[in-house]
Amino acid sequence: MTAMFTEPEERVALRESVKALAGRYGYEYVARQTREGGKTTEMWADFGKHGFLGVNIPEEYGGGGGGMGDLAAVLEEASAAGAPLLMMVVSPAIVGSIITRCGTDEQKKHWLPKIASGETIAAFGITEPDAGSNSHKITTTASRDGDEWVLNGRKVFISGVDEADVVLIVARTEDAKTGKLKPALFMVPTDAPGFEAQHIPMDFHAPEKQFSLFIDDVRLPLDALIGDEDGGLWQLFAGLNPERIMGAAMTCGTARYALDKAVEYAKTRSVWKDQPIGTHQGIAHPLAKVKIELEQARLLWQKAAALYDAGDDFTAGEYANMAKYAGGEIACNATDVAVQTHGGNGLATEYGLGNALIAARLGRIAPVSREMILNFVAMHSLGLPKSY
Ligand SMILES: Cc1cc2nc3c(=O)[nH]c(=O)nc-3n(C[C@H](O)[C@H](O)[C@H](O)COP(=O)(O)OP(=O)(O)OC[C@H]3O[C@@H](n4cnc5c(N)ncnc54)[C@H](O)[C@@H]3O)c2cc1C
Repeated sequence: MTAMFTEPEERVALRESVKALAGRYGYEYVARQTREGGKTTEMWADFGKHGFLGVNIPEEYGGGGGGMGDLAAVLEEASAAGAPLLMMVVSPAIVGSIITRCGTDEQKKHWLPKIASGETIAAFGITEPDAGSNSHKITTTASRDGDEWVLNGRKVFISGVDEADVVLIVARTEDAKTGKLKPALFMVPTDAPGFEAQHIPMDFHAPEKQFSLFIDDVRLPLDALIGDEDGGLWQLFAGLNPERIMGAAMTCGTARYALDKAVEYAKTRSVWKDQPIGTHQGIAHPLAKVKIELEQARLLWQKAAALYDAGDDFTAGEYANMAKYAGGEIACNATDVAVQTHGGNGLATEYGLGNALIAARLGRIAPVSREMILNFVAMHSLGLPKSY
């Protein structure tokens, strides 16, 4: 019998296979691609070929028939190898999950096999310049004109639009300006007339870039709408909870990567007599603390994924938020400790930790900020009054 807090054998085997493949690429590959302005195209295709990108997609639509726990394990392993595939958070996790749960059979047949294989990359756009954390305030609007939808609006910080074939845009229909978001979700091809993407230079360096989107009278067929126009918020959260679980798994992977490097350095670097620096508790204790907090964060995302896969959306939401918080914290703490353990080398480009330190900060901001999670937990888990 499997112990309650260990992963099933199939997932352990999946992790081993992913680790072996991701290890062939690793940090050096991603760093080189980043430096040369390239993408992670070969690694993405290889992951697709091995079935890793679509492990959560139902088998009848070309996927592996697993769950969010499996997909998150894939991303954690890639990230722990120093090669986090950011678009996995978006394409199979957010968009794949929403289409699986809310799409028509035709939409599933059309989109899911290629999302599962990685041939199609789908980005996701909810954030707007004037709404930010308050998604209820988004103004991107879809209106019906005969047999078409017409979209207008602006989005910001949308990842991977240059690599994507399509963006799942969160809009609202014109008659829904109530102050409460009634989201309507549209698959918008990146080559649609009226759709324009502008690169936003960022201070951390990665192959995946962020973009402002300008959506001006973009005309879409009726079947571009995924789910029901009046379906409500659950359709959105069918993708946002996976996004948070994936964010947590990715940041836990970053923490593992940083911790592994730091431990290796602490065992081999020696500056006093013949003792490695890891002999000193000033070095060993912060590393031990990271290990403990990392295992806490991993348990949280595994629990959130198990709840999501069991269909308990409500509790999954609570744990996905807490997991995302814990992942963001441990990625920041682990990269910080790893830099400190390396001394001057911690900021030398060769060791790749300075950029990881900045990238880890992303885990405290996106896809939902640390403060908004604390608001959520205070209100929903603790029953405290709403603060905003
Ligand atoms: C690298 C990167 C990639 C991204 N990729 C995507 C993507 O692919 N798709 C997408 O849709 N979005 C994406 N985002 C956007 C991301 O989800 C937002 O940046 C995030 O939700 C925060 O929104 P904001 O930047 O507008 O901050 P704001 O909402 O302006 O918040 C600024 C600060 O105020 C705090 N704050 C706001 N309201 C409250 C409150 N009520 N109580 C306490 N504190 C509060 C926030 O926590 C934050 O610290 C990405 C962002 C980054 C940095």
